[in-house]
Amino acid sequence: MHVVNDGSYIFMWTFPFNVVGNSNLTAWFKTTDHRASRVSAVISQLYATADPGLTKNAHRDVMVSNTDCGCGGACSYDSHECLGFEQPNVSGELDTTQWKVIIAHEIGHGVEKRASGRAYLDYSHSATEPLCRCDHIPNAAIRLHCLQSREFAGAAWAEGFAHFFAAKVFNSPADSDCYLGYYKHAYVKKYVPFSGSYMFLIFPPPLQVSCRGPVRWRVEQCNDPNGATGTEVDWMTFLWNIHVPSEYGNKRTTMTDYHHLRKQACLKAGLSHCHGNWPYHQIDFQKFSGAARDYYGGQSPKYLHIAEMGTLHGVRNGPY
Ligand SMILES: [Zn+2]
Repeated sequence: MHVVNDGSYIFMWTFPFNVVGNSNLTAWFKTTDHRASRVSAVISQLYATADPGLTKNAHRDVMVSNTDCGCGGACSYDSHECLGFEQPNVSGELDTTQWKVIIAHEIGHGVEKRASGRAYLDYSHSATEPLCRCDHIPNAAIRLHCLQSREFAGAAWAEGFAHFFAAKVFNSPADSDCYLGYYKHAYVKKYVPFSGSYMFLIFPPPLQVSCRGPVRWRVEQCNDPNGATGTEVDWMTFLWNIHVPSEYGNKRTTMTDYHHLRKQACLKAGLSHCHGNWPYHQIDFQKFSGAARDYYGGQSPKYLHIAEMGTLHGVRNGPY
């Protein structure tokens, strides 16, 4: 810990030992109080995670910052993963560092950006169905996107990855189930006795959401005949199922392979590399599965599993 000129603290961790191959993550924190301790606790848990997704032979650093955020809550911005240090209590809400899942989610964005490049985050593909929008979230500052909103596939993928990453940090791969403590209001399907039927009711956070699925939110609630959209929850369960469950054995994709495939998906989208510059934002399942077919082979268990899970979890392009 070093005291710097402005009176705040910088905490720095370096890990010269092998985590995945020669992975090396350095986390810098600039803050004045115990928020850095909360972030460091999540980082510690991350390092206890099997195959945490830190790229081999690459120096990785994640800036967790209270400056230059430009967002009301937590967000991933440029080289910073912002946790709303200076904007707590928006609409009476908790400081974002009080949500371990938010911390892990934002770090997930940072890890992915550094491992396989940025995504263009376009959340603007607004569905008309209320179940596929975020109007139910009371705090307008965090209404840009949510677990169940229909978004352009690239955005849903990026957010789904961050949810998946957080789920990995806080779930054991030995368990057959998976739950994410979601931090915004969301719809939950409940049986309502007086109506004698199931209804979608809005519940406040924290919400226990299955990351094992399948949820198939896009397919069941907001299908899109154009097929280039997705929801965050579907991408989360898809990624969980291609990577984690032990019953899938050698069908599973490692994090190293995942990032390779994601980079190849960006090449298939006509990019020289994954980046967030308009208008190249249409990485989607079709490009990802195409990359998997090229890399693993069209009859390989890993490719066939990705194709099967893409359909099952509703991230596959096209109408269902
Ligand atoms: Zn996010």
